[in-house]
This record gives sequence, C-alpha cells and structure tokens, in this order.
Amino acid sequence: MDRKLIFDKPPTSYNNTDFFPPSLPKINNAEEIIPDKFLRKELPLPSLGELDVVRHYTNLSRLNFSVDANFYPLGSCTMKYNPKLNEDIAQKNEFLLLHPYQDEKYTQGALEVMYELNRILCEITGMNQFSFQPSAGAHGELTGMLMIKSFHSLNKEKRYKVIIPDSAHGTNPASSAMCGYETVVVKSTPSGLVDIDELRKKTDSTVAAMMLTNPNTLGLFEEQILDISEILHKKGALLYYDGANFNALMGIAKPSLMGFDVIHLNLHKTFSTPHGSGGPGAAAVGVTKKLCDFLPVPVVDKKGNKFYLKYDIKHTIGRVKSFYGNFLVILKAYIYLLRIGRKGIRRVAYNSVLNANYIKEKLKNHYIPASDKKCMHEVVFSCVKQKNRGASALDIAKRLIDFGIHPPTMYFPLIVKEALMVEPTETESKSTLDNFIKVMIEIDKEIDTNIERIKRAPSTTPVGRVNETKAARFPCLRWEKPGE
Ligand SMILES: *Cc1c(COP(=O)(O)O)cnc(C)c1O
Repeated sequence: MDRKLIFDKPPTSYNNTDFFPPSLPKINNAEEIIPDKFLRKELPLPSLGELDVVRHYTNLSRLNFSVDANFYPLGSCTMKYNPKLNEDIAQKNEFLLLHPYQDEKYTQGALEVMYELNRILCEITGMNQFSFQPSAGAHGELTGMLMIKSFHSLNKEKRYKVIIPDSAHGTNPASSAMCGYETVVVKSTPSGLVDIDELRKKTDSTVAAMMLTNPNTLGLFEEQILDISEILHKKGALLYYDGANFNALMGIAKPSLMGFDVIHLNLHKTFSTPHGSGGPGAAAVGVTKKLCDFLPVPVVDKKGNKFYLKYDIKHTIGRVKSFYGNFLVILKAYIYLLRIGRKGIRRVAYNSVLNANYIKEKLKNHYIPASDKKCMHEVVFSCVKQKNRGASALDIAKRLIDFGIHPPTMYFPLIVKEALMVEPTETESKSTLDNFIKVMIEIDKEIDTNIERIKRAPSTTPVGRVNETKAARFPCLRWEKPGE
C-alpha cells in the first residue's frame, strides 16, 4: 500500500454522509423493521430496594482478590504503585472527552503531556525519542523489532536470527517470531546470568539483535552487560531492552549507557496504571539516535511554542495503533513522574531492591533462592526442598490464598525448578513483608504437620482448588451461592 495513504493527516472535519451513505432508507420508527418476536414489550426488571442492590454488588466485588484489599507479590508482571489520585485526574472530563480528530489548537495540553513525558523518559533511560503508540509490552516488543528489521533491511543486511536468553519472558521469542526471525537461545550460567562464552559462539553476522531483560527474570542484574553489548555490536547486531519492569533501575542506571539501542517500558507496570483483566495498558518504546528515523508515526514535536503531531519521519515503520496510543495511561505515567520527582524516582529503585532482598534474606534458610547473587526488584525461590516433602510450588501458592496473600508467579522462569517468583514492590510496608515471611515459614512447617490442609487449599475462597486445564478451557463464569 502507498505509505502516504496511511500517514496522511486525518481530516479535520467530516460529515455524516461519510458514515451513512445516502442510499440507506430513512427509518422513523424502529418497530416497522424489527420482527415482532425481537421486540421487547416490557422489561422484566426485578423490583429491589437500593440496599439489596448495593449489597449484591458490594458482596460480588469482595469475592475478587484485589490489591486494594491484600498483598499481591506477583513477580515479573507485577502491578506496582497506582495512586488513586492519578486515576482521579485521568477521569477528568477535560482529558476524558478529548477526541483525536480535534484540531491541534484545542489539544495543546494533551500534546504537551506527551511531549513532556517523552522528555522525562529520555532523561531516565538515555534514549533519544519515545513512541507511546503500543498498547502493551508485547506490542512494544513487536514495534521495536520491526524498527530493527527496517534498520537492517535499509542497510541491505540479511540477518535472520534473534538471540534470547533461556530465562526470557515468553513474549520475547513470540515478538521476534512475528517479525519473521528465528530464535536462538543462549543458556544461563548456574548463577542465573547470560552465559557469555555461549553468546560469543552464537553471535555472527546473521544475528539481527539480542533481546535482553535487565534485571533479568531471575531478578538479577546482568553484570557483564558491557561485554554483551560489545559482542553484539561488533557483529553489527543491535541490542533490545525489555524494560517491562523498570523500578529497580530508574534514576540509577541508564539502558543507553549499557549499550541498548531500543527499549520498551510498560507504563502499566512501573508507571502507575492498574492492569489485570486486560488493560488498557501502554508501552513506551524508546530508541537511540540511529533508530529515530524508524519510529511509528505520529510523534509529538514542538515548533516555537506550539506542539504538533509529526508525521514526517523518513523511514517510519508506519502506525502500530490508531492515533498516538492509550492517552489516559500516558497521562497517568506523566502525573506519577511529576509527583515523585527526581528524588522519588531513585527512592522507588532503592526501596524495590531493599524489599526484595529483605524477603530473600529472611526466607533463604527455608526456601532455596534461585541465585546466590543479590537480587534487584524481585526474588525467585525454588521449592524443591518442599516438593521432596510433598508440597509443590503450586500447593504453597494455593495455601497462601488462605492467609489472604495472592500467590507469587509460579513455575517461571522456566529454568528454575518449582519456582516461586516474588516481587514485593517498593510501596509495601515492613509489616506486610514480615507477615508474608511469617506465613511462608508457617506453610513450610505445615508440610510436616498437616500436609492434607495444604493439598486442600484454598479453603477460604468461594471456589476451591480447580482443575487448572479445565478451568482455562471451559471457564464457568457464573457464580452460584453454595447450595443453590
Ligand atoms: C509483562 C512483561 C512483558 C509483556 O508485557 P505485556 O504488557 O503483558 O504484553 C514482557 N516482558 C517482561 C519481562 C514482562 O514482565
């Protein structure tokens, strides 16, 4: 398709006939054309008092596990701090009712938000320019990999492989496969870092890029990142940064200085947008200078003191989403960063690392840490000792629910046997962490005193232990009161 067709600016005005061609019959009365059997005469509304209705919905809402009610240490895809005030601001009509087709002179404020967020994220990461179009981390990866692909093909390079460590999030190989790349896996060393010797052997001139998560999914900082970067760049390959969870490093270390060329940050994880139940989210995809000409369009730019949407990008990969992405998520990230400020950004990093290491130290004599190294924002334990005594990682995770704690991520990363991946996040109090530690130790003891109890867990929830496969394939979404 002609690129121009896609990137031309949207019309600033349009009329109804664009959507309703004049050939459609005019209808005055819907009943004339809807068959009788589909017409509803009288709505069978239940007649209930306000109290009954409010209680019904309040009680329904309490059947859900929520971060507003309980500790939620789900590792890797963790929802971090989502201040209620940010939600409140994002729900203001001034933002909510904006329309992407409005003339730029009426949307200067919204454009400024995106312009400024771009500036702040560039400062934190060392990148040169961000796009906010992608609506999730995986979507950001796809965007980044498409830019890498365009970059190589512009240079007439035939590169068809992407290197990904065995500890990576599953979206990494999926995204590179969607761009037509072959995945080459590099092993991790026993301490959980990229095996440099193997990386060196596998990097040649057919490699387009390496996708790397840092801290990796074991929660460890890749100490040899500068060597990794050198190995790849020497062979003409690029380095992609999966920064879905950026809380451990922000304000401390810049991905650009580690040698990364493209990065994505999940605004819905690190930067204050609640996620779960499917979104909406947003990934900010940032690039260094050499990839700026490949960004999706439009990006926000400034001429004089006027903000505008810039469509003129030389080698753009095109649009990856309509307009400029999920604006309210972008807005919340901006408010979040403004509110915590330069110092706050660093405190987030310090506290996230402190909290994870606190849990690691307190539990290391009971559960085996996946690595002996200091962890960053999350800690992975192996429950093999518990498994040998009869309770698997799954059993322990289920038992935690009875204590009002959401299970950590289980059986990921794949390279750790009986893995439980814990991310406490930077905003949990010491007493919450202490309670989690106490409960984990209690469950460990319970294996020897009352294993049946663990096997039956959870017993405090409306639905007990389900058949995991059946629950996913044949979900039963209607809740019925017990006995009905
Ligand atoms: C969550 C996550 C992703 C994917 O992000 P989505 O928004 O779920 O698509 C990718 N990589 C890592 C390390 C993640 O934690």
